[in-house]
Amino acid sequence: MNPLYVKVHSNDNVAIIVNPEGVPAGAKFACGLTAAEAVPPSHKITLTALALGAPVIRYGEVIGHVLDDVEAGRWVREDMLTLPSAPPLNLLPLATRRLPQPEPLTGYTFEGYRNADGSVGTRNLLGITTTVQCVAPTVDYAVRKIEAEILPKYPNVDGVVAITHTYGCGVAIDAPGARIPIATLGHISRHANIAGDPLVVSLGCEKMQPNRLLPFFEPNVIRLQDNRGFAATVASICEQAEKRLIELNKRRRETIPASELNVGVQCGGSDAFSGVTCNPAVGYFADLLVRAGGTVMFSEVTEVRDAIHLLTPRCADEETARKLIAEMQWYDEYLGRGSADRAANTTPGNKRGGLANIVEKALGSVAKAGHGTIHHVATHGEKVTAKGLVFAATPASDFICGTQQLASMNLHIFTTGEGSPYGLAMVPVAKVSSRTALAEKWPDLIDVNAGTIATGEKTIEDVGWELFHYMLDVASGRKKTWAETWRLHNSLAPFNPGPVT
Ligand code: CA
Repeated sequence: MNPLYVKVHSNDNVAIIVNPEGVPAGAKFACGLTAAEAVPPSHKITLTALALGAPVIRYGEVIGHVLDDVEAGRWVREDMLTLPSAPPLNLLPLATRRLPQPEPLTGYTFEGYRNADGSVGTRNLLGITTTVQCVAPTVDYAVRKIEAEILPKYPNVDGVVAITHTYGCGVAIDAPGARIPIATLGHISRHANIAGDPLVVSLGCEKMQPNRLLPFFEPNVIRLQDNRGFAATVASICEQAEKRLIELNKRRRETIPASELNVGVQCGGSDAFSGVTCNPAVGYFADLLVRAGGTVMFSEVTEVRDAIHLLTPRCADEETARKLIAEMQWYDEYLGRGSADRAANTTPGNKRGGLANIVEKALGSVAKAGHGTIHHVATHGEKVTAKGLVFAATPASDFICGTQQLASMNLHIFTTGEGSPYGLAMVPVAKVSSRTALAEKWPDLIDVNAGTIATGEKTIEDVGWELFHYMLDVASGRKKTWAETWRLHNSLAPFNPGPVT
């Protein structure tokens, strides 16, 4: 075997083992380093001896301090280092890095659906939204019937989506926190992929009445408590659905500039490679799409918090930087109310994948945001209409982040190291793996393999461009992601920081 590690930054004193089987004790690296013990794949090895209290440096940043003397060639385990405190929010540089204006990328287009409200879709779906969980099984039943009996008559329509969720009643709907789930579900109910025109199913007595979900829109509402029994309700939903399908079937794709794409990026099941391979490749993609005039949203507050000092300098202006800090502050307080902090983020899988702590995870996570200026900061539940690179505040939870990003995005990129079959019903979700071993184990779930970056077969630029072309094909309907092929549709999970009654 040829023992191989990747070192990210010239100042790093640890590196990540690339060999899929790890390295045994005594393995000799090309640089002369000898492994003092066996080190598993994607875990860290010390490149130099570290004296008690010395910083452990990865990505050129301190991810902890060693709790004992550690010789060179040792496996760095989570319990060998301290967790640094999060960067203080009151001392951050605001918009201090003047980044050069990137060269515009012109001529890139996709085939999409332009809607009456100006929004642009990448799929043609009938959406049936709901005001409350009580009606969800009824709507699911109706959707199965529509798909089997009515949809085949309308071949230009890609599918029928039940926009069901756990919100709508049993909640303190006038509490400040209620704004977030209501706004999120309202935006999703008028998503570009359903032509902004949903059918609404309500129970009748719920707290989130249709005019609360869609305050500036006169929807066609089917109210279950106004109907005579289940069969009549289903018949009513099917009848209204067919009227929509007739209209949706007339939609045609047209050539649209890439600037109309809004791509939400997030990670899930990350490992120590995520920050070296898939996330930087997505970051390169983000830089490309922003140069093409499009929008890229990165999110996941707890995975940004420990890298915040690297992001506030990149904000377009001081006001944007202050908004970014305010989102960190709000989330610190939210976690504090639950007697937790950002360290609650990491999972057993992250640790198995070599991530020692939230600092190391965050430094790798923010690579998805590329290298450009942060043009806008959106708060939880805000619909993003700005162009450029946007920080859209969401929890890091895959389902909640995906749900909040869905309010604004027409494409989704999900990076993973440990592996997740995650998908959404309303937008294509492309999955990018951090390691070749995962892409080979899951050839029918992973859309793009970024593991080739670690082995030196491809560069970050190569995979970034590959992803850029792939996403244009997916946006155009020329290609389907694996999550679409298998119809892997995770439930919507609106973020409700407000009380439940
Ligand atoms: Ca996530």
